[in-house]
Amino acid sequence: MNSTSHHRVIILGSGPAGLTAAVYTARANLKPLIIHGPLPGGQLTTTTDVENYPGFPDGIMGPDLMQQMEQQAKRFGAETVVDTVTSVELKNRPFTLHSAGKSWSCDALIISTGASPRYLGIPGEKELLGYGVSTCATCDGAFFRNKRIMVVGGGDSACEEANFLTRFGERVFLVHRRDELRASKIMQERTLKNPKIEAVWNSIPVQILGTQTSGVTAVTLKDTKSGATREFPVDAVFVAIGHTPNSSLFKGVLPMDSNGYLTPAPNSTRMPVEGVFACGDVQDHVFRQAVTAAGTGCMAAIEAERWLEAKGL
Ligand code: NAP
Repeated sequence: MNSTSHHRVIILGSGPAGLTAAVYTARANLKPLIIHGPLPGGQLTTTTDVENYPGFPDGIMGPDLMQQMEQQAKRFGAETVVDTVTSVELKNRPFTLHSAGKSWSCDALIISTGASPRYLGIPGEKELLGYGVSTCATCDGAFFRNKRIMVVGGGDSACEEANFLTRFGERVFLVHRRDELRASKIMQERTLKNPKIEAVWNSIPVQILGTQTSGVTAVTLKDTKSGATREFPVDAVFVAIGHTPNSSLFKGVLPMDSNGYLTPAPNSTRMPVEGVFACGDVQDHVFRQAVTAAGTGCMAAIEAERWLEAKGL
């Protein structure tokens, strides 16, 4: 039977944004319900060491950090449910959310569904994720000092990652499937002028070689023009072929930009539907850091709390 439980605040997603929003709303006695899908803890649970989250001088494992955030939120009364919300109704109040077998209603909704990095979907990629394959140079670049690093992609993200990785790598190979970058002119110039970066044009990875013991050892590249393949020795592969914000649930319901990122009011998490707030990577294509996600999660919680109070809810 499909039963509906009511909550003053529902938080969708349990990455750093959602869990920070949960800590704040729980401490404000709002008893938030966090609904999270199949990847509790969000993107950080797919990384290993996190060395740039303040407060952990020796670093912390991504999954541990998220577990601690969840414990912190629960300590103040936040509840969590694992389910996949498949539809939302924001026209009537309270708002309602539905999964395959359950419904919830809420006065305020905090959306922190994050973004998912796009992957190449080739053999070796999933198996070596965290063992030389990464989608975050800021998180994992420092593990590859004086190593040969490959970055895949031709957009601003790939160029940014490649430039950043030259701080660590002996050499950075930017592998792009065409012979012209998609990135902005200024980023292209900066990248192609960098003496540590070598562009590998008209190439796509078709397999990543190595083991969890050896780490990545090489990538099989295919020439997109001739079809020929070759083995390219590298120690790390950073896949930077874009992110997809997890916003499909809100298509036609809430405004988003042409890439699908939700667009809250400037310097705020407020969405145009009163009582709906968006935080974290689902609305941020610029910074995409755990700490910035947590910051906007805090903003969403404070804005939701103030809104509920103003409405007497
Ligand atoms: P993007 O602009 O969509 O670029 C993705 C790149 O990956 C493209 O070069 C694309 O090749 C390539 N690619 C896609 N799928 C691939 C596949 N299966 N195999 C191989 N290559 C593949 O994504 P982005 O670089 O993440 O940027 C997203 C948005 O954020 C953009 O609007 C960008 O300007 C913005 N951004 C801005 C900054 C900044 O201003 N500092 C930094 C990062 C991102 P093709 O070119 O052949 O399509």
